[in-house]
Amino acid sequence: MALRALLTLLLVSALFPSAGLCAGTAFLSLSSEAGEAGVQTAPVPLATSGRRDLRAYFIDVGQGDSEYIELPNGQNVLIDGGPPDPDGAAVPPIAKFLKEHKVDRIDHMVLTHPHSDHYAGLAYVADRMKIANFYDTRVDNTGAAGDDALREKVRSSGAKILYPAAGDTLEWAPGEVRVNVLNGCPESTQTAVGQLLNNCSIVLKITYQDASILYAGDVQDDVETGLVSRFGGELKADVLKVGHHGSSHSSSKPFLERIRPSSAFIEVGADNPYWHPAPSVINRLIEAGVASEQIYRTDRDGTLLYTIPGPP
Ligand SMILES: [Zn+2]
Repeated sequence: MALRALLTLLLVSALFPSAGLCAGTAFLSLSSEAGEAGVQTAPVPLATSGRRDLRAYFIDVGQGDSEYIELPNGQNVLIDGGPPDPDGAAVPPIAKFLKEHKVDRIDHMVLTHPHSDHYAGLAYVADRMKIANFYDTRVDNTGAAGDDALREKVRSSGAKILYPAAGDTLEWAPGEVRVNVLNGCPESTQTAVGQLLNNCSIVLKITYQDASILYAGDVQDDVETGLVSRFGGELKADVLKVGHHGSSHSSSKPFLERIRPSSAFIEVGADNPYWHPAPSVINRLIEAGVASEQIYRTDRDGTLLYTIPGPP
């Protein structure tokens, strides 16, 4: 774990009404800005005036994935958009976060794979704001129409569409942030099989300063085995967005042992029908060295922020 990224742990549940940060939900911050209110449970935060931080949010969207990143160069990234509104309303859970954070354009939008708990919120985004770059897999979910609709929407908007492949690097903040693509499906395929769709997830490792975050999408253990073989020690990351909402079919022991994260973030809905996260995954995370208090869950903790401080 990067030393400076560990400096503070703030629990600011509902303590930021003026900042508009997810009032009413727990909001944990690893490292924070000087001047912020909050319950400080670890040493003094760094002063941040003029600092080029990388801020990685794990958004509480219920049972689904959505992560937002503010890059140190001022650009932003949205990885997945979470599910539709569970009650069938037109406004998906992600809308609240976007409004509170005054997000009005997306520089880099990633659809890890075409399941509705990942793409539904992106359709809402594509309807309302300009998207500069869209990173997609070439797998078509033949059991759904929403992925086709999103892709058509993005295509007709004029966004640049890219299909990253394992081994690629993405130039999101050249010279500052390294973005390694570890998995994707750049070749055209069609399937309605859940496992095959999950395994096409775009997996990214993002490194800034001396800290890194691995976004595992929904890949399952067979792909994880391949990642261990191909990337080995390169998988090491301080933070893990746990694969597939904590499903027992992901987060295999060898994969976690290579990543050896200090903190783990699980994007999961309360009382979900899949029994996510699996107790076996929590155990495997702990066995891989993650302290139980460093395992965060959006169903219990709400939207979460991990900050990597920029140079002093
Ligand atoms: Zn999912």
